[in-house]
Amino acid sequence: MQFSNELSFARTLDKQSTINFRDQFIIPSHKGAEAIYFLGNSLGLQPKTTVSYIEKVLSSWSDFGVEGFFKGSEPWLQYHDGLADPLAKIVGALPDEVVIMNSLTVNLHLMMVSFYQPKGQRIKIICEAKAFPSDQYMLETHIRQRGYDPDEVLIEISPREGNFTINEEDIFTAIEKNKDQLALVMWGGVNYYTGQLFDMSAITRKAHEAGARVGFDLAHAAGNVDLQLHDWNVDFACWCNYKYLNSGPGTLGSAFIHRRHHNDDSLHRFAGWWGYRKDSRFLMQKGFIPIESAEGWGLSTPSPVLFAAHKASLEVFNKVSIKKLSVQGKLMSSYLIFILSEINSVCHEPLIKVITPQQEKERGCQVSMLMLKNGRDIYEYLSANGVFADWREPQVIRVAPVPLYNTFTEIWQFGNILREACKIQTNT
Ligand SMILES: *Cc1c(COP(=O)(O)O)cnc(C)c1O
Repeated sequence: MQFSNELSFARTLDKQSTINFRDQFIIPSHKGAEAIYFLGNSLGLQPKTTVSYIEKVLSSWSDFGVEGFFKGSEPWLQYHDGLADPLAKIVGALPDEVVIMNSLTVNLHLMMVSFYQPKGQRIKIICEAKAFPSDQYMLETHIRQRGYDPDEVLIEISPREGNFTINEEDIFTAIEKNKDQLALVMWGGVNYYTGQLFDMSAITRKAHEAGARVGFDLAHAAGNVDLQLHDWNVDFACWCNYKYLNSGPGTLGSAFIHRRHHNDDSLHRFAGWWGYRKDSRFLMQKGFIPIESAEGWGLSTPSPVLFAAHKASLEVFNKVSIKKLSVQGKLMSSYLIFILSEINSVCHEPLIKVITPQQEKERGCQVSMLMLKNGRDIYEYLSANGVFADWREPQVIRVAPVPLYNTFTEIWQFGNILREACKIQTNT
């Protein structure tokens, strides 16, 4: 598409768009007007229905007390059943392959219990260098707890000298080179810092060929890009539901476990009563018998209050295919990258280096800008002028125009504010 840096062009794109869900969300305001909220990759906005769905759970609690688990129009005991189907669609899973429980880092540990099974020489884990800190700490402590030295187990893949993103060939080479010692590939579907999207299908295939298992952290991928976890044959995946999935701060996370593992008795797990067979859970008997689905990895009573927020969000997603959303998200970021190149071209020297891949197939809807001069001041100016962006040391501003509630017009407006910021903060 031929882009133009004209307001009328951005407005036309918005008018032609068939994805119109902005009015279903509460947009934060700035000085009485709607702010430009480009942080759906950090905390997604609140659907307008969230409050009433939560209130329904609370009134069920008022009316029935503990019997709310069994009574009312939405008994809490079955609440999960209504969420599995729409959630599974978003990640390309079968409904019995997803479970909503705990939170992301906890779930990563639980999946490691089952899917990291070091044996003899086969102890190594391939992962991204500088993954999101929680993922690094999870691996480090989990490996140590198994009696291994993280330095001997972890094979970290970095970008090549002078690059910001990882060359996928380097992942494949590492898998091939370590094929006799490899136990697991643990990777992020979309890198949180650069926004790089990986070919999860190819990574899974190569890891399986080497006799290893594969797990993905989809914190920045779920609800952002098109995923086909079941068909790709991924062993497990985990994600949080508060970023692109708009289910509220610190809400329950999710895990995917491929169906072929559901009845595998050889997998270890850390169990709790919520993963016990539903037909006999309340007989409270000795000896753990898991539900034959991803729910069999559940441990504890989940909060119906949090399920209610999740339901409000999934209902919006259910109105549009994730494929279509993903295409729109990539297009919006392409437009943003175009606007950034226009800003660079009118300055004496380039001020912004986009470290997110330019190719649409290598990213979702996030754009990470490496600020070459006075980045922190520019970021402060953006914040003071109603733009929600985020600052990552030492000099990166991340923004994510999200197709569910952001617009091309906002991207154009953002460009204007950013150009003004660059002018003031750098005298260019
Ligand atoms: C956001 C994010 C997390 C956060 O984990 P929580 O357990 O939900 O706090 C972890 N890993 C990645 C890659 C993330 O992007």
